[in-house]
Amino acid sequence: MALTPRPGIMNIAPYVGGESSLPGQNRVIKLASNESPLGPSPRAIEAYKALASELHRYPDGGAVKLREAIARHHSLDASRVVCGAGSDELIGLLVRAYAGPGDEVLYSRHGFLMYPIAAQSVGATPVTVPERELTADVDALLARVTPRTRILFLANPNNPTGSCLPASEVKRLRDRLAPQVLLVLDAAYAEYVTRADYEAGTALVEAHDNVVMTRTFSKIYGLAALRIGWAYCPAAIADVLNRLRGPFNTGAAAQAAAVAALEDRAHTEKARAHNERWLPWFGERARALGLVAHPSFGNFVLVGFPAATGGAEKALAFLNTRGVIPRRMASYGLPDCLRFTIGTAEEMEATVAALADFVASRTEAAAGGAR
Ligand code: PMP
Repeated sequence: MALTPRPGIMNIAPYVGGESSLPGQNRVIKLASNESPLGPSPRAIEAYKALASELHRYPDGGAVKLREAIARHHSLDASRVVCGAGSDELIGLLVRAYAGPGDEVLYSRHGFLMYPIAAQSVGATPVTVPERELTADVDALLARVTPRTRILFLANPNNPTGSCLPASEVKRLRDRLAPQVLLVLDAAYAEYVTRADYEAGTALVEAHDNVVMTRTFSKIYGLAALRIGWAYCPAAIADVLNRLRGPFNTGAAAQAAAVAALEDRAHTEKARAHNERWLPWFGERARALGLVAHPSFGNFVLVGFPAATGGAEKALAFLNTRGVIPRRMASYGLPDCLRFTIGTAEEMEATVAALADFVASRTEAAAGGAR
């Protein structure tokens, strides 16, 4: 008899990461995975290299130095910080801990895809809730809570839409949520947010026993390859995650690099300033070309391609011929859109030039057709 995995697992549409190469092109502009164009701090690279002679040693399973550095940096209680192999692992552990067959896991319509994948991996039912103008709708989320709801995931800012709720809306969501529902605030892009009325989630975690905030070193800190994320939790939830996680779930070099990255505030500030300059620039240029650039609070822009331009698939094929790799969005229910990470200045200029040529080629094609 064939072995069968537990229910739900074969319904998972495997997560497909962003492309990083194109056949026949040796120089590409990779804007598909929301990585930092500046890379990590040189101090993080040094810390990583310094561990090369210690590869036979197990890491500190408790990631004590890293948790203490995170706690110092963000004024948190280190005993309630739990580190993971990327925030992806923490999302998976939270679902494993608090949901199972027959339970519902809520998230907004264009929310991050790891939420339904994690829910299905434990046999729980992922439930999507409609958004308003590509933004999470607090009332719609609350209306969809049932006695079976166990977890509500809110990415704030959200990937791939770039939308972001103000602190007052997130607080309203928490305050009206049934106390047995865990609210997970995924703040992977928190460091990029410039709006004054934003709160990543720390205050809500400290005030309530059903809120967790997840963060990552993969984005502004430029350490995606090393897989380090962390969760800030109520003490009881930190205890649960520490029982579930692998005893050595984060590597030694990764921990050391993350500590050094946190300490290099100037590098982080440079990455933030770069994004603050090029995020609006790219959005404005795309809009000037007649494309629909959605407002973003992250390090990426979701761009809609109206039918008159030939649509997102044609745009993707054209951009690929110029070495530009944005992310296809069909799996997020946004088949007319592509998502562009903010790259280096040269990459953004080349991308806008390619987009302009694409739009011009479509206009010429349309004019030719009319003749
Ligand atoms: N949450 C969101 C909203 C993301 O966009 C990502 C990365 N794509 C993650 C979590 C996971 O990041 P990591 O596992 O690298 O920390």
